[in-house]
Amino acid sequence: MPVSCQRLPTGWFTHDRVDVPNPLAEAPERPERLDTIENHLIALGLDERVKRFECGSAPIGAVLLAHDGAYIERLRLASEGDAHALAAFCEPDTKVGPDTFDAAMKSAGAVTSAVDALMEGRIRNAFCAVRPPGHHAARAEARGFCYINNVAVGALWAVHHHGLRRVAIVDFDVHHCDGTEEIIAGNPAVRLLNVYQWPLYPNRQLTPTPENVVMSPLPAGADGADLEEVLETVWLPALEVWQPELIMVSAGFDAHCEEQLAQLKMKETDYARLTRRLLDAADVLCSGRLVSVLEGGYSVHSLARSAMTHVNMLVMRGQHPAGE
Ligand SMILES: [Zn+2]
Repeated sequence: MPVSCQRLPTGWFTHDRVDVPNPLAEAPERPERLDTIENHLIALGLDERVKRFECGSAPIGAVLLAHDGAYIERLRLASEGDAHALAAFCEPDTKVGPDTFDAAMKSAGAVTSAVDALMEGRIRNAFCAVRPPGHHAARAEARGFCYINNVAVGALWAVHHHGLRRVAIVDFDVHHCDGTEEIIAGNPAVRLLNVYQWPLYPNRQLTPTPENVVMSPLPAGADGADLEEVLETVWLPALEVWQPELIMVSAGFDAHCEEQLAQLKMKETDYARLTRRLLDAADVLCSGRLVSVLEGGYSVHSLARSAMTHVNMLVMRGQHPAGE
């Protein structure tokens, strides 16, 4: 590992639209999620230990690596109130409002900015504090509170813009990342490793499983020991074989035991252990290059505690920005 990596900070990538209301008033994917995370960041003093980036929209060329152009145009028109375009967004929990396109483009922009900063050697690793989330968004369909697949856009941007040949995406959100799976299926430059509760929303996965995807479903009631077994027996060996040049993380914290939407039993210490092991793998395999992207987590207090546990691990691998 280059010595200079040791002195770089963790980047905190966000944008000015993370507080837009969900078009569905009663949706658990709501502004309080990010508000609570930001409050915990300050309470723990971590805001002074990360380097903050306020990001604009992703380059349209990056978004089109993961999505159909007609779909993105439909999303833009629906956000402007076009009735015909609005009618195309059918999932009951994934409605489009006037701020949706802007917020979704900026969430993806936070991730491409994080990839850029990492590849240009300006940060050690990154956490993207974004909403809306992305991992259910398919190439031409919004679903599960997701419109643009942030992590897929970032991974494909790393491949096409930065010339990486091997990128790994690991996803520990409690829900299967059906959108990410669809977008990267068969892509020789990307490997997807995902652990999730099964059966549970979205109850949809490709058959047969694509060669570049490793699925690790867990039954309701599974806990941190089960997660660790997946990590040690499936993920870490797969990463060692794949030799990624960058590890992207779809960091959903809705497998926490306090979540009402699912039945896994993870605790903060489990997220800490998982994060530490992924950082260890990144150190060995790819000079510590790791970009983590917020996905789900709807019990706001356990979400914020878990996210801070995760971010604290990232920060401990970097250094105070003032020390640059
Ligand atoms: Zn989820």
